[in-house]
Amino acid sequence: MTYLTGVAPIQLSDQDTSVNNPLTDKDFVMPIAPRPELCFTQGKGHYLFDQNGKQYLDMVQGWAVNTLGHSPDLIQQALIEQSQQLINPGPGFFNQPMIELAKTLCANSNFDQVFFANSGAEANEGAIKLARKWGQNHKQGAFKIITFEQSFHGRTLATMSATGKATFAPLFEPKVSGFSKAPYNDLAATEAVIDQHTVAIMLELVQGEAGVIPADSDFVKGLETLCKKHNLLLIIDEVQTGIGRTGNLFAYQGLDIQPDIMTLGKGLGGGVPISALLTKVEHSCFEYGDQGGTYNGNPLMCSVSQAVVNKVLEQGFLANVEQMGQLLSQKLSELSQQYSLGSVRGKGLLIALDTAELSAPELVDQARELGLLLNAPNERTLRFMPALNLSEKEINECCAVLAKTIESL
Ligand code: PLP
Repeated sequence: MTYLTGVAPIQLSDQDTSVNNPLTDKDFVMPIAPRPELCFTQGKGHYLFDQNGKQYLDMVQGWAVNTLGHSPDLIQQALIEQSQQLINPGPGFFNQPMIELAKTLCANSNFDQVFFANSGAEANEGAIKLARKWGQNHKQGAFKIITFEQSFHGRTLATMSATGKATFAPLFEPKVSGFSKAPYNDLAATEAVIDQHTVAIMLELVQGEAGVIPADSDFVKGLETLCKKHNLLLIIDEVQTGIGRTGNLFAYQGLDIQPDIMTLGKGLGGGVPISALLTKVEHSCFEYGDQGGTYNGNPLMCSVSQAVVNKVLEQGFLANVEQMGQLLSQKLSELSQQYSLGSVRGKGLLIALDTAELSAPELVDQARELGLLLNAPNERTLRFMPALNLSEKEINECCAVLAKTIESL
């Protein structure tokens, strides 16, 4: 068994772990992903621990959700304090954490109003509905949304329909209609898809699930101009890029654009389920009954999110993301040179390394054996999406284990 240094290994009880093995009953869980034969029982900061007490350096962090790592004290504190006050009065009432969080997000962006939801897909569903509603009110019923090839917007039926992943195309037919796909980073081809029914253009500013493909800044500026020219809404899906992931609080702030609608998820809750749909007051056209959800804006999740966002807004936090992102990119480039791998790309702490001849899923499996958790968004790419409070120590550890992993293959 391999242990990394840095966190004291968990003390296992004297009990026979085979008797207590939680995996014995794993078949009660629907098999929706090829999960490895392990069960995480504890997490602290950059590390996870499995049922046998084995320690893993986690560069996936719940799929880019644990902004501050596993079980940070400030989330524990927010959960304890808020749960003692009020957990959920219901979405038909205001609560203080909901109002405070909406105010914080608006004060730090160019948006005026927030609708809270529970997942990235649900926030994107809201964005799609809002754009369609706006089209009904202001654009003679225009409803079509242009999205991009290879994009990812979620797993509800409408967001799968919006998604440009080729493997989604044949699934769950018939899809929700009204989405036209354009090639990413191709402005002329995007303009060619616009017709009289088009109401919005929706995109990720870095296509995360596609393998960390950043949008060109000219392309994004060009889309903003196209939207003005054709009276379209510019929707940005910042579910993966938002809340500091790319070094700005929101990725659009590094691109000098003013989108009309933005969605957030993942890092917004630092590990707990909360997402958000933000827009300007002139586009905020839902009427009573158009949108809602039982858990939406509950004070428990909003208070956690407030604590996470406050931390990200602290002096120096985003500068660390930028600095550590550069360091990780540099070290990965060195590894790439040493082992003849491919390119390194990304923004902030959303970084990809192309693996050339090596199978990325095999690297992920082997790295896990050696105590390092990585993600492979496709056959030839590794993705790194660590907690944003990463330090040089974890970067060095990650690259050392990755080098060992490559050598062992
Ligand atoms: N949008 C983007 C850009 C994402 O990366 C994801 C998830 O990976 C989603 C939407 C869906 O979010 P969720 O899984 O919380 O529904």
